[in-house]
Amino acid sequence: MGKALIIGCGGVASVTIEKCCQNSEVFDELMIASRTKSKCDALKQKLDGGKTKISTARVDADNTDEVVALIEAFKPDIVINLALPYQDLTIMDACLKTKTSYLDTANYEPIDAAKFEYKWQWAYRKKFEEAGITAILGCGFDPGVTGVFSAYAQKHYFDEIEYLDILDANAGDHGYPFATNFNPEINIREVSANGRYWQDGKMIETKPLEIKRVFDFPKIGEREMYLLYHEEIESLALNLKGIKRIRFFMTFGQSYITHLKCLENVGMTSIKPIEFEGRQIVPLQFLKAVLPDPASLGPRTKGKTNIGCIFSGKKDGKPKKYYIYNVCDHEECYKEVGSQAISYTTGVPAMIGAAMVLTGVWNKKGVYNVEELDPDIFMAELNKRGLPWEEDFDPKTVE
Ligand code: NDP
Repeated sequence: MGKALIIGCGGVASVTIEKCCQNSEVFDELMIASRTKSKCDALKQKLDGGKTKISTARVDADNTDEVVALIEAFKPDIVINLALPYQDLTIMDACLKTKTSYLDTANYEPIDAAKFEYKWQWAYRKKFEEAGITAILGCGFDPGVTGVFSAYAQKHYFDEIEYLDILDANAGDHGYPFATNFNPEINIREVSANGRYWQDGKMIETKPLEIKRVFDFPKIGEREMYLLYHEEIESLALNLKGIKRIRFFMTFGQSYITHLKCLENVGMTSIKPIEFEGRQIVPLQFLKAVLPDPASLGPRTKGKTNIGCIFSGKKDGKPKKYYIYNVCDHEECYKEVGSQAISYTTGVPAMIGAAMVLTGVWNKKGVYNVEELDPDIFMAELNKRGLPWEEDFDPKTVE
């Protein structure tokens, strides 16, 4: 049915690529292109032999012309961007030049400022619409499935959603004193930033990890979780009618927090370049180089993740609560695709989102966050493709 160019070949991309191959009725041809071509070739070797034809290439996605040349040679129907948030705009520019649809899992972030916002990508709305192509922003789990869950709740269960808490628990244990489950640089930039949540029409800022709550997660148990800023708050605040408050909480173990505090205190999480033995280095990039590669955590991680949304609002004039979540098992993911659950929960929705575009189910032209599109087929696909969801119509809410 269609051809996809996948840019990046890290933890998330390897899951998406394997899931595209499992869905060969939709993806008949893939090109895997990344900075390190040997990783693309190794994955091709693992997956070759199925119905989906795979080719590989080297690309520097910071360079729009290189991406344009690749698109012109391969002629994909969609580009799935699974490199880093720094490459979003150069890849979107290449898609515009070649009139090719686009999908990513994380919003643009300039490399020299830990500041992620949709404004840069939303500025492409008119241009994508005029070019007759679709861009889907933030189609991982959070952002991604959390937006699809929100669209589903709004469509089927609420007249008005007033409160939304997004809860992300990772109860996985990889046995290392400190490691991050996805790209360490992006992860640490996110966690060490000030917290923010949406209330009564504006963002309220907190100190990093200032607000802590305890929640009893289904199939995991009680965990401490911390309020973080997360990018879907910005788009959901615009797209959920009548919304009064949106918060995002993530669980962290004590060992993770103690190590992070110590690394921060000694300056290792800084993104300001320093002079070291005659050359400029960025401390956080150096730290990334010494930490375990998230892709290597797969075989050692045990336990489960639980990510979901608790909504409170009104239906037919009566108060209503609704909790929807997915539980994913690290070891099961590893058995299926050789990755831990964080890459899996991000990589599967990216494949489903791309399939929604290729099959024409999501066919609006322009730039969209997932909650702006119809959720029903996506929800059914989650159940089929390894991320089944569960519902609770009388959940405990977060204080
Ligand atoms: P990794 O670091 O494992 O992979 C990133 C890949 O991008 C690597 O293959 C890397 O190449 C490649 N890359 C980096 N820079 C370039 C470039 N200039 N040109 C071409 N390729 C490049 O990251 P993850 O797989 O963990 O994360 C991928 C994305 O998913 C990130 O944007 C992350 O923020 C997002 N994410 C989203 C989540 C969600 O739920 N929405 C959750 C988790 C992650 P090389 O191998 O040479 O380093």
